[in-house]
Amino acid sequence: MAFANPADIEMLILDVDGVLTAGEVILDETGKVSYHFNVQDGSGIKYWYRYGGQAAIVTGRSSEAVLVRAKELGIEIVYQSALRKIEAYRRCLADCKIDPRRVACVGDDLPDLPLLRNCGFPVAVNNAVREVKEQAAYVTGRSGGDGAVREVIELLLRAKGCWGEIVAGYHKQTLSGD
Ligand SMILES: [Mg+2]
Repeated sequence: MAFANPADIEMLILDVDGVLTAGEVILDETGKVSYHFNVQDGSGIKYWYRYGGQAAIVTGRSSEAVLVRAKELGIEIVYQSALRKIEAYRRCLADCKIDPRRVACVGDDLPDLPLLRNCGFPVAVNNAVREVKEQAAYVTGRSGGDGAVREVIELLLRAKGCWGEIVAGYHKQTLSGD
Protein backbone atom coordinates (compact mmCIF):
# COMPACT_ATOMS: atom_id res chain seq x y z
CA MET A 1 0.00 0.00 0.00
CA ALA A 2 1.33 3.45 -0.89
CA PHE A 3 2.26 5.63 2.07
CA ALA A 4 -0.37 8.16 3.07
CA ASN A 5 0.14 11.77 4.04
CA PRO A 6 0.24 11.71 7.88
CA ALA A 7 -2.27 14.59 7.84
CA ASP A 8 -4.87 12.15 6.44
CA ILE A 9 -4.54 9.60 9.25
CA GLU A 10 -7.66 9.16 11.37
CA MET A 11 -6.93 6.01 13.32
CA LEU A 12 -3.95 4.78 15.29
CA ILE A 13 -3.47 1.06 15.92
CA LEU A 14 -1.03 0.22 18.65
CA ASP A 15 0.77 -2.93 19.67
CA VAL A 16 1.46 -3.30 23.40
CA ASP A 17 4.68 -5.25 23.96
CA GLY A 18 7.62 -3.30 22.58
CA VAL A 19 5.45 -0.32 21.53
CA LEU A 20 3.42 0.85 24.53
CA THR A 21 6.02 -0.91 26.69
CA ALA A 22 9.74 -1.61 26.32
CA GLY A 23 8.86 -5.24 25.64
CA GLU A 24 9.47 -6.47 29.15
CA VAL A 25 6.83 -8.44 31.01
CA ILE A 26 6.93 -8.64 34.78
CA LEU A 27 5.38 -11.89 36.00
CA ASP A 28 4.60 -12.53 39.66
CA GLU A 29 4.50 -16.02 41.17
CA THR A 30 0.76 -16.30 40.48
CA GLY A 31 1.26 -15.54 36.79
CA LYS A 32 -0.13 -12.03 37.09
CA VAL A 33 1.42 -9.62 34.58
CA SER A 34 2.68 -6.09 35.30
CA TYR A 35 3.85 -3.51 32.79
CA HIS A 36 5.60 -0.16 32.78
CA PHE A 37 3.61 2.29 30.68
CA ASN A 38 4.83 5.70 29.60
CA VAL A 39 2.93 8.69 30.94
CA GLN A 40 3.79 10.92 27.96
CA ASP A 41 2.37 8.28 25.61
CA GLY A 42 -0.77 8.49 27.72
CA SER A 43 -1.15 12.24 27.44
CA GLY A 44 -0.41 11.98 23.72
CA ILE A 45 -3.32 9.55 23.29
CA LYS A 46 -5.59 12.00 25.07
CA TYR A 47 -4.53 14.80 22.69
CA TRP A 48 -5.16 12.44 19.77
CA TYR A 49 -8.73 11.82 20.95
CA ARG A 50 -9.27 15.51 21.62
CA TYR A 51 -8.58 16.24 17.96
CA GLY A 52 -10.96 13.54 16.75
CA GLY A 53 -8.55 10.65 16.27
CA GLN A 54 -9.55 7.05 16.88
CA ALA A 55 -7.30 4.48 18.54
CA ALA A 56 -7.22 0.73 19.05
CA ILE A 57 -4.91 -1.77 20.69
CA VAL A 58 -4.08 -5.04 18.94
CA THR A 59 -1.92 -7.39 21.00
CA GLY A 60 -0.99 -11.05 20.81
CA ARG A 61 -0.88 -11.44 24.59
CA SER A 62 -3.71 -11.05 27.07
CA SER A 63 -3.68 -9.42 30.49
CA GLU A 64 -5.86 -7.47 32.84
CA ALA A 65 -3.15 -4.79 33.03
CA VAL A 66 -3.69 -3.87 29.38
CA LEU A 67 -7.43 -3.49 29.94
CA VAL A 68 -6.81 -1.26 32.96
CA ARG A 69 -4.40 0.96 31.01
CA ALA A 70 -6.72 1.09 27.98
CA LYS A 71 -9.60 2.15 30.20
CA GLU A 72 -7.48 4.83 31.82
CA LEU A 73 -6.65 6.24 28.38
CA GLY A 74 -10.18 5.92 27.04
CA ILE A 75 -9.20 3.31 24.43
CA GLU A 76 -12.36 1.28 23.98
CA ILE A 77 -11.22 -0.91 21.09
CA VAL A 78 -8.88 -3.59 22.44
CA TYR A 79 -8.09 -6.87 20.73
CA GLN A 80 -6.11 -9.18 23.00
CA SER A 81 -4.84 -12.73 22.24
CA ALA A 82 -4.71 -11.71 18.58
CA LEU A 83 -2.46 -14.52 17.40
CA ARG A 84 -3.05 -13.52 13.79
CA LYS A 85 -3.18 -9.77 14.10
CA ILE A 86 -4.49 -9.31 10.58
CA GLU A 87 -7.81 -10.87 11.64
CA ALA A 88 -8.26 -8.42 14.51
CA TYR A 89 -7.23 -5.60 12.20
CA ARG A 90 -9.76 -6.66 9.55
CA ARG A 91 -12.53 -6.72 12.18
CA CYS A 92 -11.43 -3.35 13.52
CA LEU A 93 -11.57 -1.73 10.07
CA ALA A 94 -15.04 -3.16 9.50
CA ASP A 95 -16.37 -2.22 12.94
CA CYS A 96 -15.00 1.33 12.71
CA LYS A 97 -15.88 1.65 9.00
CA ILE A 98 -12.47 3.07 8.27
CA ASP A 99 -10.38 2.94 5.12
CA PRO A 100 -6.98 1.30 5.83
CA ARG A 101 -5.31 4.18 3.95
CA ARG A 102 -6.44 6.39 6.86
CA VAL A 103 -4.79 4.17 9.47
CA ALA A 104 -1.38 4.36 11.10
CA CYS A 105 -0.14 1.12 12.67
CA VAL A 106 2.76 1.11 15.12
CA GLY A 107 4.73 -2.10 15.57
CA ASP A 108 8.02 -3.59 16.68
CA ASP A 109 8.09 -7.26 15.72
CA LEU A 110 7.26 -9.67 12.91
CA PRO A 111 3.60 -10.30 13.92
CA ASP A 112 2.98 -6.58 13.24
CA LEU A 113 4.18 -6.84 9.61
CA PRO A 114 0.76 -7.70 8.09
CA LEU A 115 -0.71 -4.59 9.69
CA LEU A 116 2.15 -2.35 8.62
CA ARG A 117 1.92 -3.65 5.05
CA ASN A 118 -1.82 -2.94 4.93
CA CYS A 119 -2.18 0.53 6.37
CA GLY A 120 -1.59 4.04 5.08
CA PHE A 121 1.08 5.08 7.53
CA PRO A 122 3.19 2.22 8.92
CA VAL A 123 5.42 3.14 11.85
CA ALA A 124 8.26 1.14 13.38
CA VAL A 125 9.51 2.00 16.84
CA ASN A 126 13.24 2.48 17.22
CA ASN A 127 13.59 -0.90 18.96
CA ALA A 128 11.76 -2.71 16.13
CA VAL A 129 13.37 -5.59 14.28
CA ARG A 130 14.95 -4.82 10.90
CA GLU A 131 12.14 -6.33 8.82
CA VAL A 132 9.58 -4.08 10.51
CA LYS A 133 11.71 -0.98 10.06
CA GLU A 134 12.02 -1.82 6.36
CA GLN A 135 8.23 -1.60 5.95
CA ALA A 136 7.85 1.67 7.79
CA ALA A 137 7.05 5.11 6.43
CA TYR A 138 8.51 6.42 9.67
CA VAL A 139 10.88 5.00 12.30
CA THR A 140 10.62 6.71 15.67
CA GLY A 141 13.65 8.16 17.41
CA ARG A 142 12.23 6.97 20.75
CA SER A 143 11.81 3.34 21.71
CA GLY A 144 8.69 1.51 22.83
CA GLY A 145 7.82 2.36 26.43
CA ASP A 146 10.02 5.46 26.18
CA GLY A 147 7.71 7.86 24.39
CA ALA A 148 7.58 6.30 20.91
CA VAL A 149 3.79 6.52 20.76
CA ARG A 150 3.87 10.11 21.94
CA GLU A 151 6.35 10.88 19.15
CA VAL A 152 4.02 9.36 16.53
CA ILE A 153 1.02 11.28 17.83
CA GLU A 154 2.96 14.53 17.85
CA LEU A 155 4.03 13.86 14.25
CA LEU A 156 0.41 13.21 13.16
CA LEU A 157 -1.01 16.20 15.02
CA ARG A 158 1.75 18.46 13.67
CA ALA A 159 0.89 17.27 10.15
CA LYS A 160 -2.75 18.19 10.83
CA GLY A 161 -1.68 21.60 12.14
CA CYS A 162 -3.03 20.93 15.65
CA TRP A 163 0.11 20.68 17.73
CA GLY A 164 0.75 24.41 18.08
CA GLU A 165 -2.75 24.88 19.47
CA ILE A 166 -2.17 22.21 22.13
CA VAL A 167 1.05 23.85 23.28
CA ALA A 168 -0.46 27.34 23.08
CA GLY A 169 -3.34 26.16 25.29
CA TYR A 170 -0.85 25.55 28.10
CA HIS A 171 1.01 28.81 27.50
CA LYS A 172 -2.26 30.69 27.85
CA GLN A 173 -2.94 29.44 31.37
CA THR A 174 -1.93 32.09 33.87
CA LEU A 175 -2.23 32.66 37.59
CA SER A 176 -4.91 35.23 36.96
CA GLY A 177 -7.12 32.68 35.22
CA ASP A 178 -7.55 31.36 31.68
MG1 LIG B 1 5.25 -6.15 19.97
